[in-house]
Amino acid sequence: MEVAAGTKLVYEFSEGSRDMRELLGGKGANVAEMTRVLGAERVPAGFTITTEACVAYMKGDRRFPEGLDEQIAAELDRLEEQAGKRLGDPEEPLLVSVRSGARESMPGMLDTILDLGLNDRSVEGLARATGNERFAWDSYRRFVQMFGDVCKGISGERYEEAIAERKKGAGVKLDVELGVDDLKGLTDDFKRLYRGETGEDFPQDPKDQLGAAIRAVFDSWLGERAVHYRRLNRIPDEWGTAVNVQQMVFGNKGDDSCSGVAFSRDEITGEPTPSGDFLPNAQGEDVVSGVRTPNDLSELQDSMPEAYEQLIEIQRTLERHYKDMQDTEFTVEEGRLYMLQTRSAKRPAQAAVRFAVDAVEEGLVTREEALGTIDPGALHALLHPTFAPDADFEVLARGVAASPGAGKGEIVFTAEQAVQAGEQGRDVVLVRPFTEADDVAGFHSARGILTSEGGKASHAALVARGMGKPCVAGASALDIDLEAKELRVDGTVLHEGDRIAIDGTAGVVTVDDVPLEEPGVSDEFHTVLQWADELRKLGVRANADTPGDASKAREFGAEGIGLCRTEHMFMAADRQPKMRAMIMSEDEESRRAALDELLPLQQQDFEGLFEEMRGLPVTIRLLDPPLHEFLPNAEEVAKDLERARMERGEDEEELERLLERVHALSEQNPMLGTRGCRVGVLHPEIYEMQVRAMLRAAATVRERTGESPHLEVMIPLVAYERELEVMRDLVERVAAEESAEELELSLGTMIELPRACFVANRIARVADFFSFGTNDLTQTALGFSRDDIGGDFLNRYMDAKIVDRSPFDTIDRPGVGWLVRLAAWTAREEKPDLALGICGEHGGDPDSIGFFHLAGLDYVSCSPYRVPIARVAAAQAAIGEE
Ligand code: PEP
Ligand code: MG
Repeated sequence: MEVAAGTKLVYEFSEGSRDMRELLGGKGANVAEMTRVLGAERVPAGFTITTEACVAYMKGDRRFPEGLDEQIAAELDRLEEQAGKRLGDPEEPLLVSVRSGARESMPGMLDTILDLGLNDRSVEGLARATGNERFAWDSYRRFVQMFGDVCKGISGERYEEAIAERKKGAGVKLDVELGVDDLKGLTDDFKRLYRGETGEDFPQDPKDQLGAAIRAVFDSWLGERAVHYRRLNRIPDEWGTAVNVQQMVFGNKGDDSCSGVAFSRDEITGEPTPSGDFLPNAQGEDVVSGVRTPNDLSELQDSMPEAYEQLIEIQRTLERHYKDMQDTEFTVEEGRLYMLQTRSAKRPAQAAVRFAVDAVEEGLVTREEALGTIDPGALHALLHPTFAPDADFEVLARGVAASPGAGKGEIVFTAEQAVQAGEQGRDVVLVRPFTEADDVAGFHSARGILTSEGGKASHAALVARGMGKPCVAGASALDIDLEAKELRVDGTVLHEGDRIAIDGTAGVVTVDDVPLEEPGVSDEFHTVLQWADELRKLGVRANADTPGDASKAREFGAEGIGLCRTEHMFMAADRQPKMRAMIMSEDEESRRAALDELLPLQQQDFEGLFEEMRGLPVTIRLLDPPLHEFLPNAEEVAKDLERARMERGEDEEELERLLERVHALSEQNPMLGTRGCRVGVLHPEIYEMQVRAMLRAAATVRERTGESPHLEVMIPLVAYERELEVMRDLVERVAAEESAEELELSLGTMIELPRACFVANRIARVADFFSFGTNDLTQTALGFSRDDIGGDFLNRYMDAKIVDRSPFDTIDRPGVGWLVRLAAWTAREEKPDLALGICGEHGGDPDSIGFFHLAGLDYVSCSPYRVPIARVAAAQAAIGEE
């Protein structure tokens, strides 16, 4: 592809600005902006070749687009004139750096060449002009090496071999001990290596060097490393990278020179003290490469006080200008300070929050602007224990980062063991190939959950996130053998009781005893959350099933419960047999008898929730999963039966009945089967029991506290308005029987099937509120199974550019999102005051929250630990719209 004739493909730094990031890349745009703000004398001159030129190069079979050579030549002329030096000049040469600069920073992924312009003659000129022969030859040998590596792909090892040989010959140990003659010899070695590998002499014409370096940076965009990084960080391939050509300044000219990196505030804590590293008498690459241990920035104050003061003042200026914490690179050449780069500092959540609060206090930014500097997704780190950031450990396996936080303990393979261990006060990690409803009791007792199957929307992930338990899911390298009670991976075999640690924020597993860090909600974090509350329009509720979850949710600022999944209440050890008896009942009478036993237990559950959420709405969803989920699986029962038959056990008959029932209830596609309100239509007595339990709980709590709970009854998986009508009749009938007509009660439905979205206006006639169940809605709209979709499948789809992230993590705006919009719109046409919420996993995803704000919903509901994130994301959505 060619660019249109006359397109400007090269910009001098003084022509650009921060708003030109797309065209000039992050580095180019910031260097240009810095040149404007600080003046040309502070920033070494140069120019940027646009991302558009890179895109044209990629599409044009790796050929420079028309006009690029000429524009580069013209800019180079201008640069030489400004610098008063020429590239390759044998007297006093101009040297340049050639660096990549994509729209988003991709640290270490793209290529850089320094000291370009040196050749056999200009190296002598550099030596004379600087009076430092060693420096000149060291620069030249580095350049020959970097050029060969970056432009011709010559392996770094070959250079290292040559260096080792030279050091041996000279009888020295370190590179810095090599003298001028050794470096001259080494340069010859490198050039010979270059010739041997490429069949050409090392290019002596600096213009050829420059052309090749620019191509190499463009090519590095297409390199494997960069492509992989883009996949992981969801950076589109089409962006391309810009190339920055900048006059070199030298921090290695003696004791009054240095190179360093500096943050305008502490980069870990965010405290308002500048931080950073520098190396005296060194080039910038030495500081980042770690060859020498750098000094703390504070020491610069003693060694070069004037430059230090200037640097601090410049950082203040840049912060004021960018209204954000800055990360800069600088060089002092013979006492004179140059700024090479500035950008918004990447920072951990703790520093982000501290900066936001301080910056508002200092009058640097408004609250709105401060909130905009925080990445809500990163706030997780402030709410969960994590692996200590400097911990050293070996990774045993990787999986999906399914629920953040870290946990460690002994391996257990069953929920019962987890519960037992919990009672004995032992820390355990529950390890299963995948988890099911039966395992939930074990989650409470475990420090973390590890599975070898499933992804972010798997049962394990969902339940773990809801409880704030760390979870690594789908660690497919693990072979979990439940029979043998072994976990095998890469020749390592771990047994029950062996210790393991997981980090659900990063998705890693290790057997090392990594220290954990326990976080607390700081005063600054509270302040940020308060601002968010003042600015946001969306309400934020929590998905919570127990008083414990509810209290956590309240602590994190939830304004109610948006989803209580009642099925989780039947998983407790004292409930399961009763639930099973209910399902096994052969007639309505015996089923009602079993339900009568469950009712007081369920009532207690609700009382606990209502008490905890006093004054706030509580949405309780009636039973959703298919009944067979409460029974053991067929294989297990068949095995028990076989054993009973062999041993002539007394329970043979009972097991036969159980197996029969399990078979009768089994379905090919249970997620599309007898679940949700379909259970309520087929077995109304179950829903009746639940409604009765809620009403009695509400009455009891009202009596106890004098305050009536705000009860919202929610019906799952409605597709037909008639289903909801039938359910409304049921609820009203039970309310009349319980004489509870005066209780504050509303009735709504989940909207989680495409048909429900299409007929939302009709359903709205029967509903007081809707809550979008975007997990099931995504599953049914896309036909992807939420339990099976895994990392492998999604990675392939991402590679093929079919999706750029999992639709179960972030709402698929054009598809599923459109269904949400359609339903919201038609339902409100029918009933303008209908309350609209969302309680699928997307309710805690910052990007999706932005969408729900735009779709006009009233609230999002997410797991308690995501409530603070949702508060900030909702505020950002409101600010973004103004
Ligand atoms: C949903 O489907 O989005 C939902 C919240 O319900 P569940 O995840 O319990 O199916
Ligand atoms: Mg659902």
